[in-house]
Amino acid sequence: MADDSVTAVETSVYTIPTDAPEADGTLSWDSTTLVLVSVQAGGVTGLGYTYGPPACAHVVRDTLAAVVTGVSAMDVPAAAGAMRDAVRNMGYGGVAGYACSAVDIALWDLKARLLGLPLQALLGATRPQVEVYGSGGFVSYGPDRLRDQLAGWVDDGIGRVKIKIGEDRGRNPRRDLDRMRQARETIGEDVELFVDANGAYSAAQAVRVMAAASDLDVRWLEEPVSSDDLEGLAMVRRRVSADVAAGEYATDPHYVRRMCQAGAVDCMQADATRCGGITGWLEAAAVAGAFGLDISAHCAPHVHAQAATAVRTGRHLEWFHDHVRIERMLFDGVLDPHGGVVTPASDWPGLGLVFKAADAEEYRVG
Ligand SMILES: [Mg+2]
Repeated sequence: MADDSVTAVETSVYTIPTDAPEADGTLSWDSTTLVLVSVQAGGVTGLGYTYGPPACAHVVRDTLAAVVTGVSAMDVPAAAGAMRDAVRNMGYGGVAGYACSAVDIALWDLKARLLGLPLQALLGATRPQVEVYGSGGFVSYGPDRLRDQLAGWVDDGIGRVKIKIGEDRGRNPRRDLDRMRQARETIGEDVELFVDANGAYSAAQAVRVMAAASDLDVRWLEEPVSSDDLEGLAMVRRRVSADVAAGEYATDPHYVRRMCQAGAVDCMQADATRCGGITGWLEAAAVAGAFGLDISAHCAPHVHAQAATAVRTGRHLEWFHDHVRIERMLFDGVLDPHGGVVTPASDWPGLGLVFKAADAEEYRVG
């Protein structure tokens, strides 16, 4: 077999303005930054990315490139372990972990490409497709934009949609309830309504808001309180009928175990672009599965689609407006969510994505 040692690791950074101001309960933004990593071996290039600050690219260039160069692209777990060891003193959570995640994703893409397989086939699929839920409904949207976005997903046959609540750190529960009511009226009775407070409420407030929304059949309550407050999540979970979900900031299997062990969630979330790439996401799924919990993929849908099919307990992936828009702008090979599922292509190698460098150039910042 040809030499599969990694010979080059490169980065580029793109900041893309949003199509409208976006805000959730605890943050607002008007642009999103994608940090792209490419790795090469045997004349083949693999791609990975994370949504994080440009500092992620510095960690890749200054620290991780030297760690990964020379490792066989067949041995992704060896590279993942070496990267984790190398950033110990930076702290794995946050920028360093996001950087490791992007490299890990690129290495899985590279390995699959070297073998001429879709990532799904390399990992071993449990089913050909995975359910998606439409995600957006920012608190910064007016009624018309909210209605149009939700109706668009319903028209596409997507059977579950999520809006943001917890506006202004939970200071405007009346508008939260008005928007939840508008969402239910827009989507009708048969589409599942999900809400995400991004940690904006107190536990008692979250319970009160859900009680006031009891006629709206909310199925999914994400981060009603900070995901660091495991006791608060568990308290809310005992007192609402919606599934409580959290985990988008998960860093490693220990984080997942603590969240599951605390009885904090009905469904675990994890984000491969943050929790250690494809390697970390599969580990998160395994830990959650040992607690009898499903896992849902957070954001970056084209990173997760294939891994989610590889896990029997993969419940769905988040078809997040912001990232879907960017991934459609910057990549060929993006998936079609019609019917509420995505089916990774069986004839595209790796993640199935081709980066459109010329289209991306105007957004390049590093
Ligand atoms: Mg969330």
